[in-house]
Amino acid sequence: MKTKQGKTRNKQQTFHIRKNDLVEVITGEENERRGRVLEVIPENAAAIVEGVNLVKKHQRARSQTKPSGIVTVPAPIHISNLVLICPRCGKQAKVRMEKIENKRVRICKKCGESIE
Ligand SMILES: [Zn+2]
Repeated sequence: MKTKQGKTRNKQQTFHIRKNDLVEVITGEENERRGRVLEVIPENAAAIVEGVNLVKKHQRARSQTKPSGIVTVPAPIHISNLVLICPRCGKQAKVRMEKIENKRVRICKKCGESIE
């Protein structure tokens, strides 16, 4: 497995993946698993994807309403390990950016659909 542990740059990065996108894992044990992006963490160039990279967390009882136990939560995965899935053609989308009415819109190169 390859991991790129580059130094974090100060430059504000924009990612091709955003919250609520459908993405596919393209490396590692969970190759080809798909899920929806729950959160993007720009500082770490990582994203939390529903059902992907699940880890078990032991939770201590902090109050009577929150009992102790093991919860399964998705852990962040590096964005370079994810690829956007075009909602229209259902394939791994190669996107280009277009500026439409001052908004940056991603366009699927395969089918021309804009991905919001
Ligand atoms: Zn498409």
